[in-house]
Amino acid sequence: AAGRGRPRLNVLMAGPRGFCAGVDRAIKIVEEAIRRYGAPVYVRHEIVHNRFVVESLERQGAIFVEELDEVPDDAPVVFSAHGVPKSVPAEASRRKLFYLDATCPLVSKVHREAEQHFTRGRHILLIGHAGHPEVVGTMGQLPEGTVTLVEDEADARSVAVPADVPLAFITQTTLSVDDTAGIVAALRARFPDIHAPAKEDICYATTNRQAAVKAIAPRAELMVVVGAPNSSNSLRLVEVAERAGCPKAVMVQRGRDLDLGLAQGLATIGITAGASAPEVLVEEVLARLRERFEVVIEEVVVAEERITFKLPAGLHA
Ligand code: SF4
Repeated sequence: AAGRGRPRLNVLMAGPRGFCAGVDRAIKIVEEAIRRYGAPVYVRHEIVHNRFVVESLERQGAIFVEELDEVPDDAPVVFSAHGVPKSVPAEASRRKLFYLDATCPLVSKVHREAEQHFTRGRHILLIGHAGHPEVVGTMGQLPEGTVTLVEDEADARSVAVPADVPLAFITQTTLSVDDTAGIVAALRARFPDIHAPAKEDICYATTNRQAAVKAIAPRAELMVVVGAPNSSNSLRLVEVAERAGCPKAVMVQRGRDLDLGLAQGLATIGITAGASAPEVLVEEVLARLRERFEVVIEEVVVAEERITFKLPAGLHA
C-alpha cells in the first residue's frame, strides 16, 4: 500500500556485484592494522578506488598519501590493493618503515608471471591502461625497458619489440574480457609464438561482474553502475552494459547522484556495482529509487563466489 500511486519499476540486480575478495582483504588489512598498532596508520594510494571506503577508513584513523615520503618514520604504512613497483617496498625497507602489503594476491600472481618471463629472457607486453596504479606497479616489478604497454588493438598491431627476443604477454586484472580477447588475437596474429598466461590474468571478479551485466543488459532500459570514475573495473561495466544492448548506462558514486528522471517511464532497469563499491551504496541507490518508484527486485545470479584471501602474516587473528 505504501507504493500506491508510484509507478512500478523492475530492478534487475546483477549477481555477483560489488566487493571482491581482494578489496575485502585490503580493507580488513587497514582496519586490523589500526586495531593492532593504533591510529594513525598510513595508506599509500587509495586502498581501493572508492571515496566512501576511503572516508570511512579515515574516520577510523587511516591517513591516505600518494607517496612514501609523506609517511613519518614511526608509523605503519599499507600499500594499496593495486600493487606497487618494487622500488616502493625497497624504499620502505631502506627507511626501516613497518609496512603491510595489501596488494591483491591475484595482482601479485601477475607480478610473479612477469618475473618468470623476465628470468627466461622474454620481452613482456603488458595489456593495460596507461597510468593505472596496477599498471605502474606491474611494470615496476622489472627493469625499465623490459615491459612494453599495449593499450588497444592498434597498439598490438604497431608495437615495436626487440628483434630476436622471445615474447610474452600479461594483462591488467580488471580489463574488458572482450576487448582483451581482440588485443590478444591481434598479438597472436603478429607474433604466433608469443607466450600467454597459463590461466588468464583478468581476475575471476572482473570476469563474473562483466558476465552478470551481460546477462541483464538486454532486458534493461537503463543500467546503473555503482562505482568510481577512477575504478577500472567499474568503467568496464558501463561499457559492457552498453555493448550488450542496454540503451544507456550511468555510473553513480552514491544514491544521491542518481538522476531519477532517467528512470522515469521505464519498465526495467539493471543495477551492478564495481569490485570496490560496498553493498551499502547499492542499498542507497535502491532507497533513492524508492523515493519515486514501486521497486520490484529480481536478483540475476550468473556465478557464485566463495573465494576469500588470508590476511598477510603478522595480521592473522
Ligand atoms: Fe583482486 Fe580482482 Fe579484486 Fe582486483 S578486482 S582486487 S585483482 S579480486
